[in-house]
Amino acid sequence: MHLTLEMKYLKLYHDNSLLAIKSGRQSYYPSQRVKELLEIFRCMVNDCMKTGLETDTSSLKRLSTLSYRQLKGYKCPSAYRLAAISRAAGILASRKKSLRRGYPTKTPYMSKLVLISCYGFKIEVGNLRIPLGERKFEFILLTPHLVRILSDPLLNVRSFTLNETIVSLCFSKEVVQVKCSGTVGVDRNLRNLTMGNQNQVTKFDLSDAVRIADTTRRIISSFKRDDDRIREELSSKYGRRRHNRIQHTLHNTTKAIVADALKHKEAIVLENIEGIRRLYRRGNGQGPKRRHRMNSWSYGEAQRQLVYKAQWVGLPIIRLSRSETRGTSIICPRCGERLQEDRRLRRKLWCQSCRCIMDRDAVAAINLSRRGRLRFDRSRAPVGLQGGAVEAVKGNPITTVIPGVDAPKPSLDSTNPRLDRTRIPFH
Ligand SMILES: [Zn+2]
Repeated sequence: MHLTLEMKYLKLYHDNSLLAIKSGRQSYYPSQRVKELLEIFRCMVNDCMKTGLETDTSSLKRLSTLSYRQLKGYKCPSAYRLAAISRAAGILASRKKSLRRGYPTKTPYMSKLVLISCYGFKIEVGNLRIPLGERKFEFILLTPHLVRILSDPLLNVRSFTLNETIVSLCFSKEVVQVKCSGTVGVDRNLRNLTMGNQNQVTKFDLSDAVRIADTTRRIISSFKRDDDRIREELSSKYGRRRHNRIQHTLHNTTKAIVADALKHKEAIVLENIEGIRRLYRRGNGQGPKRRHRMNSWSYGEAQRQLVYKAQWVGLPIIRLSRSETRGTSIICPRCGERLQEDRRLRRKLWCQSCRCIMDRDAVAAINLSRRGRLRFDRSRAPVGLQGGAVEAVKGNPITTVIPGVDAPKPSLDSTNPRLDRTRIPFH
């Protein structure tokens, strides 16, 4: 059984505390009655959507009055009726939004089997108890991992979601936001994840992810049998395997980054990666191998993990806008001059005015951290960040120490033997 945790969203609670939301999931085997309920739920949502479309309603309140009576015909606990109406209202609302924005839409129809509810369930000694109707209950045994997570007394379990193979629980916690004294930029590259600011740059090796993706591609392309069904089955199997392995590496890395940022009380600054897929489309002049490599690179996933993990511990996240992200990897963090690429050295940049070679990834991370800091100082966010940070601007030389340039050789950090990380200390 595997378990993943993901953050759904985070909203401002009061003053200095936030409501962080996460979900945990595991696999399970549904009983016959649960299978029936899944089907009933699907029919109820579709019925409700039909009513909504006929009467052009998408508000929860109106949809409830219109269709609650009609859903009475289904034999199930009333809690699921409400959940079905709310689900239908959600789908209709997002359809309305798409129409308003001018996107093409289809007539909504739920074909997947799911059951969602935030009422009537209970966590009882390692089991999830859900109502089946007529005072009967279904008990789903939870994995020790999930039980351990739920044993936190501050946790509040909000809802559960079932499908044919997976049960997922959504829970929330009130967290106090950490007062930060600095920022740290995180730059995602194909072969590494670099976190850093002017004090220290740490590189996390992710070349394993590239290797795994390449191997999967080779294996899948080696299937010679001309049978679509088998081919699809095998490639989805290897695709799943690739996904799980890469996720594992990424989770370890993002966990370490958040722990490090928390230790130093630094807010995490993320670049804007909107539109990155557009760079690697067919016909952009890259070969199929490179295109595959660039597209199997999980740009968003690392950020998603960082965001939810940071929010769970109360660490602030700064997302730079597109214009704020621009040029972060080609401008010298020390003097603001445009850096030159050095063709002989891979991923190194040369600053004409500082007369030094810098690491491309370190440059990006430091620049991101600076720009995030700048935004923080400007907006006077509710988090206590003080002190002036000046961005390197051309003709306005300030003294910034670039790790790896001004400091001696990078040293290997050995705090976590599972992670291949290079730390460049500040001297
Ligand atoms: Zn320079």
